[in-house]
Formats: sequence, structure tokens, C-alpha cells
Amino acid sequence: MEPLDRSTVWPYDEHGEPREFVYQRYAHPTGAAAERALGRMEGGDALLYASGTSAATACVFAFCRPGMTVALAEGAYFGTGVTLGQFEPWGLKVVEFDQTGEPPAGADVLWLEAPANPLLTLPDWAAVRAHPGLVICDATVATPVFLHALDEGADVALHSATKYLTGHSNAMLGATVTRDPGRTKALYDARLRLGLAASPDSAAALLHGLETLEVRVRRQTETARELARRLEDHPAVLRVRYPGFGGLIAFDVADARTVETATKLIANQTSLGGVSSSMESRWRWEGDRIPRGLLRLSVGLEDAEALWADLAAALDRPSS
Ligand code: PLP
Repeated sequence: MEPLDRSTVWPYDEHGEPREFVYQRYAHPTGAAAERALGRMEGGDALLYASGTSAATACVFAFCRPGMTVALAEGAYFGTGVTLGQFEPWGLKVVEFDQTGEPPAGADVLWLEAPANPLLTLPDWAAVRAHPGLVICDATVATPVFLHALDEGADVALHSATKYLTGHSNAMLGATVTRDPGRTKALYDARLRLGLAASPDSAAALLHGLETLEVRVRRQTETARELARRLEDHPAVLRVRYPGFGGLIAFDVADARTVETATKLIANQTSLGGVSSSMESRWRWEGDRIPRGLLRLSVGLEDAEALWADLAAALDRPSS
């Protein structure tokens, strides 16, 4: 394993010149090793950040200018819209669009999410490729196991590595992957100058997480497919959204609070992508942009029958 180096500073060489690593905010050995590993998996140049939100912030500073319009996928992670909204006082315009259809013609940047969290829609890649704007694709939920966003037409693949890539709910981390050296440099400069760098500990968590990523997400998919199928048949479930891959399912019930507080194996908490299953009502965060009864289930690595028994018992609980 790459040794974890928490140094913030490294000595110059015998001529007084900088070596590969100088000061942690620029780059550090554990981060560089993790970036190489993720870059190999995605087929591009990876950069790590303190969180997925930091990665999004770097994208705005690197690629957006006052007067530009960002078209954001509807039903994508609600925090991305909130983050983009922070830039409206600086002249950024943000519009939402249905990513399953044509993107808005005049948009300078298309901000996709594949699949969108929590509505689990996928972009129309042919329509995206026909659009002249810069394309950023948040591929957190798909992971590189199920999607190579750069091959589909994205210019930047973005991840909240806090989720599946590290996979154990023990590290905050973001990533971008690009193929154009100019874009990589713009992102690197934004990271450096805005102080968005990832910690060595989180980078080490990524190195560990990537070693098991594929077996984790394939097993989560197998379980999620089965749970989605059974949820479809359950009389208390009004609608199931599942894109056919990955560990995230969104389903609607009449009373989300009753169901989310009734499970015992599945933790009632936010976030996703860990080895332990979790579920929450998203309405508490997102309000009426999503159905009030929507529950988002992040399927972990527990036994599928045990998960179904827990879910079925919660769905059968009478409303309080
Ligand atoms: N993108 C998606 C799809 C997310 O689900 C999240 C967080 O939930 C983020 C980005 C933001 O990531 P972070 O919480 O690591 O800042």
C-alpha cells in the first residue's frame, strides 16, 4: 500500500529547488497515488478535493464566468443546485432541465447527473453530444464500474467520493476527471487557490475503497435489483425508481416517516454508497421538488433476504 504521509511540507533539494512535493495544498504523495488509481479507472486525469461539493465549487471557478447559464439536471442532488445558487450574486444564471430530453439551447454549461440522486433519471447522451456547451457529469451514483461519463460525451466527470468510491462512510472526498490538460490545469488552479484540497487520510480511504469498488457495487446492484422487483409488487409502494444498476433505489409510499423510522437493519440516516444500508425521506431536505412520500434507499452489503424482511416489516407497519 502507498504509505499515508500526513506531512504538510517537504524539504527542497540540495540545490534549493522544489522536489515533487512542496506543500500539502499543492499536492501530496497519498493524494497523487489515489489520483493515479482513479484516473486509470476513469481513463483521464483525476484531481481530488475536500468533498464532492468542493469539486463542484472548483468546476464553477474553473469554467463559469458572469453572465453564463448553467443548465442543471432536474431531480439531481439538491445540494448541487444550492451550491450553484451561491454564485448567482456573481452573475451566474442557473436553470433546471429534464436531462432525459434536449438540453436548453443557450446554456453554456450542462450539469448532468447519471443517474440523478434521488430521481434516478439518466441523461440523453445523444442530445448532450449535439449540444455545444461544456458538459459536467456527476457520476457519483453510477461509479466508473457502470459509467465512463467521459466516453459518453462529458468533458468533466465529477464524483462525491464520500459515497461509493471510498465506500465505508468514513471519508469526505470529491474528485474530477478530465482528458483536456487545459481543463485539468484550470481545475488544479481553482483547487490550489481556493484551498479545496483533499486530506491525505481521505486520499488513503480512496486507495482502500477502489480496491473493492467493483465487488461492492456489483453485489449492491444484485441486491438492489431484487429489492426493487419486490418493492414493485408490494401493495404499500406507489412507485419504484431504479435505473437497473447501482445500489440506489427511490420509492414512494403514503407515509415516508412511518416507514423510515420502522426499519431496524436499515439505518435511518442521510447519505449513500456505504457498505451498510441506509434509507431516508428526502422531502425533509428537498421539499416539494420531489414527491413527499419518496424514500431513498442505499443498499449495502447485508444479506438480501434480511434486508427484504426489514423493509417488508416497515412497509406493513400501520401509519402513526
Ligand atoms: N453529488 C451527489 C450525487 C451527491 O449525492 C452528493 C452528496 O450527497 C454530492 C455530490 C456532494 O458531495 P459531498 O457531500 O461529498 O460534498
